[in-house]
Amino acid sequence: MRLEDLPIRDDLRGMSPYGAPQIDVPVRLNTNENPYGPSEALVADLAEAVRRGAGELNRYPDRDATALRADLAAYLGHGLTGERVWAANGSNEVIQQILLAFGGPGRTAMGFEPSYSMHRLLSLGASTEWVPAAREDDFGIDPDKAVAAIEEHRPAIVFLTSPNNPTGTALDPEVVARIVRAAPGMVVVDEAYFEFARTGTPSALTLLPDHPRLIVTRTMSKAFAMAGTRLGYLAADPAVIEALLLVRLPYHLSTLTQTAARVALSHGRELLGTVDALRAERDATVTWLRGRGLAVADSDANFVLFGGFDDRHAVWQALLDRGVLIREVGPPGWLRVSIGTSEEMAAFRAALEEIL
Ligand code: PMP
Repeated sequence: MRLEDLPIRDDLRGMSPYGAPQIDVPVRLNTNENPYGPSEALVADLAEAVRRGAGELNRYPDRDATALRADLAAYLGHGLTGERVWAANGSNEVIQQILLAFGGPGRTAMGFEPSYSMHRLLSLGASTEWVPAAREDDFGIDPDKAVAAIEEHRPAIVFLTSPNNPTGTALDPEVVARIVRAAPGMVVVDEAYFEFARTGTPSALTLLPDHPRLIVTRTMSKAFAMAGTRLGYLAADPAVIEALLLVRLPYHLSTLTQTAARVALSHGRELLGTVDALRAERDATVTWLRGRGLAVADSDANFVLFGGFDDRHAVWQALLDRGVLIREVGPPGWLRVSIGTSEEMAAFRAALEEIL
């Protein structure tokens, strides 16, 4: 049986699945994970919390993850409470729930490309037409052009990503505010990498009190170093969360996920303690790459987009041959490297030096 022979939906025919390669190599710098694993103390607390909760795994989890949402709200600050926060299995699931509630057949979603490819793929999966709008040469968004594109297409959902993946570009909340005022529907600001932004960069969370159609998504996969836990979340008006309750699966967040996320949050200071080192390593990487004469996008995230290659695939492959896996993503001629430990970045520089 071949896929083409199955009676799948017409709009899925010919699509490719999300597929960042998972290759076992010494230096993995391709999915923007935090390279630092959890401490012994966190592992011990987690094991103990799981042991205590395991005796009740015959019962369904708290369907509304009330305690976890309160903890996430406390972490976010900005006067938020648990009823303005929602959580799911990674921010990918959060985004899928937003699309199921606010997108759908006959509706469109707009994003500013290059950006995170799952916004488009999840839109298509939810039968929502994808309308790409362009970024400027410096990967920023021109607010006048954005407003014009929104007025032309009237999207049900606008995706903004700040800092943007794969370019690392952060958005000024003034630009976000203008887009929210122009948008007829929901505006999602994907802040998966917010914790890595340069100090002083304001979060779109500051706009929430005045903008009930704004949703800010976050994740524990990046700065919190918990990608394996699968925990993403959002902050929004309580009415938005009421809408998401209509489309979420009952008991979507397992007891083990809720437990792991709460233990990680209780170790938040320690987990986020790696952020300063990663920021410094990022800035050093940008400087080093520029010193090699390459084009490099300014980055507020834990990765750097660099380019100017006639054959980027050859560079990607040559790095892989030297045990360094990065990502072939972004506009033609560009590559993205996630920021790892200083040893991993030294291996990346040594390998790239050889290739150049
Ligand atoms: N948003 C952006 C911009 C991302 O880059 C990613 C992960 N690559 C996600 C969301 C999804 O992260 P997760 O599902 O692990 O929370």
